[in-house]
Amino acid sequence: MQHQKPLPLPTPETRPFWEGAHHHTLLLPRCRDCRRFHFYPRAFCPHCLSPNLEWRQASGRGTLYAYGINHRPAPGFEADVPYVIALVELEEGPRMVTNLVDVDPEPDRLRIGLPVEVVFEDVTATITLPKFRLR
Ligand SMILES: [Zn+2]
Repeated sequence: MQHQKPLPLPTPETRPFWEGAHHHTLLLPRCRDCRRFHFYPRAFCPHCLSPNLEWRQASGRGTLYAYGINHRPAPGFEADVPYVIALVELEEGPRMVTNLVDVDPEPDRLRIGLPVEVVFEDVTATITLPKFRLR
């Protein structure tokens, strides 16, 4: 049986992130009080608990903080294996779970600390997924 890939369901707190991605812009929530970025989006700053948040455009650059090469796909991802699940540390500080694309999913091609940049994959008419590639 062929499964469909699950899609993100934007919520009031994450909608600006998905709308930014739809326009191929990486937006991050930032606290107006302590001026630090965070991710994932939420109602309060995780650093100082302020609700005084704004959205800022991120550089789209970061480094590979951790990764795994997945050979046992979740339902819907059977055609993609092997693929790289990555934790990317953004220049602004937050870390984001994503996929590393446009790279051979081989351990000898990947190294912690490699510089990466965002790319945008339009999945549907409204949903775009930010992914990352080596830069
Ligand atoms: Zn804060």
